[in-house]
Amino acid sequence: MQEAVYEIGKLVVSKASDPLIPHIKKIKNSKNKNGDSLNIFKINFDMNKDVIIFSIEEEYSDFSSKDYLFVGRIGGPNSKQFILSDNKFDYFISESIPNLLNKLEDEEKRNLFQEVLNKFYLEKDGSYFLNIEKIEENKEKIDNENLNLKYVKDYITKYVKKRFDCKLKDDFALFVLCINDEPVCKEDFYRELLINNLISSTDKSKKSLKNVDKGCCNMCGSESNLINNSSKFPIKYYITDKITFASDFKSENFRKNFQFCAECENILVSGQNYIKEKLSSKISNFSVYLVPHFIFDQPNDLKKLEKLITKLSSSFSTVVNLKEIKVLKENLAALKEVMSLERYAFTLDIIFYKMSNAATKFIKVIKDLNPSIFDKFEAAYYDVYDLFNRNNLSNKNFSINHIPYLLPIKKDSSGFANYNYILMIYNNLFQQLKIDKKVLIKKFLETLNVIYYEKYGYTVSDDKDLKIKVIEQLKFIKFCEFLNCFEKEEAMITDDLKLNDKFISFIKEMNYTEQQTAMFLLGYLIGEIGKKQNSNNQKKPILNKLSFKGADKQKLIKLSVMIMNKLKQEKILQYNEIIYSQFKFLFDKNLNVWNLSNYENEFYILSGYSYSSALNYNKQNESKGEEENGNKE
Ligand SMILES: [Zn+2]
Repeated sequence: MQEAVYEIGKLVVSKASDPLIPHIKKIKNSKNKNGDSLNIFKINFDMNKDVIIFSIEEEYSDFSSKDYLFVGRIGGPNSKQFILSDNKFDYFISESIPNLLNKLEDEEKRNLFQEVLNKFYLEKDGSYFLNIEKIEENKEKIDNENLNLKYVKDYITKYVKKRFDCKLKDDFALFVLCINDEPVCKEDFYRELLINNLISSTDKSKKSLKNVDKGCCNMCGSESNLINNSSKFPIKYYITDKITFASDFKSENFRKNFQFCAECENILVSGQNYIKEKLSSKISNFSVYLVPHFIFDQPNDLKKLEKLITKLSSSFSTVVNLKEIKVLKENLAALKEVMSLERYAFTLDIIFYKMSNAATKFIKVIKDLNPSIFDKFEAAYYDVYDLFNRNNLSNKNFSINHIPYLLPIKKDSSGFANYNYILMIYNNLFQQLKIDKKVLIKKFLETLNVIYYEKYGYTVSDDKDLKIKVIEQLKFIKFCEFLNCFEKEEAMITDDLKLNDKFISFIKEMNYTEQQTAMFLLGYLIGEIGKKQNSNNQKKPILNKLSFKGADKQKLIKLSVMIMNKLKQEKILQYNEIIYSQFKFLFDKNLNVWNLSNYENEFYILSGYSYSSALNYNKQNESKGEEENGNKE
């Protein structure tokens, strides 16, 4: 991954005339709900009138970040901030000015900022706080007892609300510090300070780096100017998946991976910035970075890189969140066109990450994907859609964004509480590795248990419709099958089945084994009984015969007797006699060699139940539609 970031970084650095450009950040939410641009909040220290003046007239534009040199936080979670333009007010309350003073060497500048500190800040226990008594038109006195960060921030929030009818937190894109109406961040000394602190090659602190023990830069092999911390990296990752990253698979070698010379560090920082800005994406609730590794030809200027990346991002987002297969096809074609035109070849890493404090935790890295996997997904999506649409079960597209909603996943504030299994599934799908179908089906049944018993706290807790969920799960099973992610099972020979063609073709297309077919047929009969019960205005009591925790052979035998009796009782045996006899034939034939798990037994029963219910449901909706159109025959 490091190499890929490096290649991108090299391109960014070599094409940027201004060394700060790769570090400038755009404001993500720079518009309000109505789509209007937010404004810039200026905190102006008027040295002559001895007053702090807030002004909010200037609109944030595409150029503002560059004009005011907005680079975001500098350094790691504990580094002291001196920045004078930011997307929030916080640093100006206490941190920026004292920390800036520590960085300044120029006598004149030091005096100026010392004066600012003396005039407009109050000291308490070694910390400085903005003196709110100096704010223009403010008559309130400071309560020294309670003076702290929150106190000042709350006060300013209220003041801004009252004075401008604005929310300090939401209504401004950028906060900029000014002295006598001049934004300090536009001054040369500040620009130099940023360069020194963002880009190590000119860093004054490099004197102290001589103490680094012998070694060489992990990227270029240089032995001079070495740095071995990653504090300047915008993606400050700590790695749980050490094996993927540490050299020789040993954690003590981990540090070596983080030894770079100053130039290379700058290139890596620029590459990371680029990836953060342009290659962030989502799979379901997970945040991911996409990192392309170019194999031979690669884009040789930023515009070309950008063009490729735009196509890559849009292809990726339609692959993971499919709405229309047509759009996916178009996006993939556009990506391929750029690639073949410029003769690019690359592999792709997908990095799943979580933010914790200011650090990025990689929770899964899917490495070295061939982008042709997107085409395989597209084909599998199409086949799944076609199968379920043709069999009148569903006309909705399956998409891998849905996967967490097919599994028994608990919700928490950050999305999913237990996600390792889902990440394994994503990994194995993209890598086309085998997935244990028995484990998957056990989890599917747990999900159906949550829905049936209306349990709280799960991603599926709001889902009410059992049959729709089962159909979605069946789609996923077929999707895995089309991608060759399951071990082969021996599908039954359907020629001898005495069932109607629709049934037979569905069983054949699902590749059901004899045992799975037996369960499917039993489930179908449960669905038919349920339908009858439902039409008598009862809430399908027949489903109570399932535990949603699995059923063993003994239970299946009891169930089969009971279903026979129910068919008689509901007077629908004559319509279902053949189906029952086919079930009984397959069941008895396999009883001594039964290899489905208890979970599979119930899941395939539910697949038959859902088949019956979904068919009926779609039929009813269809005939309703026809009636509405006046086409009733
Ligand atoms: Zn180097």
